Amino acid sequence: MSGAPAARTGRTVIRPMYWTLLPDREPDAEPTVFAMECVVCGETSAPGEEFVPAQEWTLRHAGRHPSHLTYREVVQRPWRAFMH
Ligand SMILES: [Zn+2]
Repeated sequence: MSGAPAARTGRTVIRPMYWTLLPDREPDAEPTVFAMECVVCGETSAPGEEFVPAQEWTLRHAGRHPSHLTYREVVQRPWRAFMH
């Protein structure tokens, strides 16, 4: 994604600034974190960097609550904006 918002001082455009937004893959980036949420009751798995524990939580939750059949994946993914 790119855009060209202008840098402004008061009402004067100094020069255009170009920005890009990308997934942050730098070594110091926050980790991507996964969780699953039950759509029926709102209970969520513990967030973690691996998806398998969230998947296992979902199957255990469905086993304990056989009418809870719909879930949503919640992903927190770091992004970085930079100007060039
Ligand atoms: Zn539930």
